[in-house]
Amino acid sequence: MSAPDFQHQLRTAALRVTRPRLAVLEAVHTHPHADTESLIAAVRRALPDVSHQAVYDSLHALTDARLVRSINPAGSLARYETRTDDNHHHVVCRSCGQIEDVDCAVGHVPCLTASDSHGFVIDEAEVIYWGICPDCSVRT
Ligand SMILES: [Zn+2]
Ligand SMILES: [Zn+2]
Repeated sequence: MSAPDFQHQLRTAALRVTRPRLAVLEAVHTHPHADTESLIAAVRRALPDVSHQAVYDSLHALTDARLVRSINPAGSLARYETRTDDNHHHVVCRSCGQIEDVDCAVGHVPCLTASDSHGFVIDEAEVIYWGICPDCSVRT
């Protein structure tokens, strides 16, 4: 898979192309489901003088523009990914917090039908599978 054109993505989302934004997009792309601290470390390998604030600001702008999706499993720090164009879900390890992508079995949103919509127009079901990852289950 060739590297996506991050400059083009920023322009298409009407975001100004800045070095921190490019570096953050690149870092989220290469480290899917990383938390903010890991992303700051990854961005600093490309831009050593970037501030924490610049990374936070870029993450917010990219998330608002839907170039980046944030995942917030209960009890875990926010994680980020650039796979925003499908309705995939996540499986989270209760023990070590590892996160993996799970393709949606239905494929389109919302993939679960609510037993009672209460009159709402429902456009998404947020699904997180919880369990124990292979590494952790060997250890117990
Ligand atoms: Zn685990
Ligand atoms: Zn994912």
